Amino acid sequence: MARTLLITGGSQGIGAAVARLGAAEGRDVILTYATNKAAAESVAEAVRAQGRKATIIQCDTGVPADIDALYDAIPKDLPIDLVNNAGIVGMTAKVTDLTAERLERIFAVNVVGAILVAKKAVEHMRAAPEKGHIVNISSAAAKLGSANQYVDYAATKGAIDTFTLGLADELAPEGIRVNAIRPGIIDTDIHAKGGDPDRVERISPMVPMRRAGSAEEVAKAVLWLLSDASSYTTRSFLEVTGGR
Ligand code: NAP
Repeated sequence: MARTLLITGGSQGIGAAVARLGAAEGRDVILTYATNKAAAESVAEAVRAQGRKATIIQCDTGVPADIDALYDAIPKDLPIDLVNNAGIVGMTAKVTDLTAERLERIFAVNVVGAILVAKKAVEHMRAAPEKGHIVNISSAAAKLGSANQYVDYAATKGAIDTFTLGLADELAPEGIRVNAIRPGIIDTDIHAKGGDPDRVERISPMVPMRRAGSAEEVAKAVLWLLSDASSYTTRSFLEVTGGR
């Protein structure tokens, strides 16, 4: 029986694409959402339409009690793989415009939350009959820095990269593989949420492949890293950037 995919931020964008494609590959799915329950239900319906089980759970990864509640809701004997995907950007700004409140929130969601989600996944995997694997969703921003846009966001993804190295080292001896994907410019609603709805159109011509990526193209990479096809790959970073 294929392990269930636990996808944080599975209601939209990249996480939703992982849920749909994962179901097509025979995976049951547990997907979380922060506020958009209707979007989560729509993704769950698409999973069920493919004959797989789908469970939706509300979880703001910036709220540690939500993360505890998420894992309390997952049957202890259920083998899972983790897609550590939930993430936010702030509104486009320069470093001199950043406030302590903004920094605390983005680091709470993107870093503290992601680390706690992974920590609890490891505890869950050790107690379940079968261990799984972890994919952290970083960003090309970790290497680019995102000057004049959201350096704070880029710094959270730099933290995810470093976390991926250390977690992979800790878990490699017990067969839990930990990898990260750095997506480039991917056509999802995250750009509009950062107050820059034209970002995909503006940046696409600067990408070596001259286009944005789709959420499905990232999802395929996620599913490969969780599959036996990548059985000797851990502590790695897969750039899904069109060459950027
Ligand atoms: P998206 O379309 O905005 O979807 C974000 C998902 O995260 C939604 O399911 C959303 O739930 C959930 N979410 C939002 N705030 C949350 C919070 N506080 N706690 C938990 N979940 C929360 O974003 P996306 O483009 O798919 O991005 C997914 C991941 O890829 C992020 O980590 C992002 O940084 C990374 N990434 C994206 C790009 C890109 O160009 N799109 C590039 C590099 C990296 P609701 O539906 O309830 O809002």
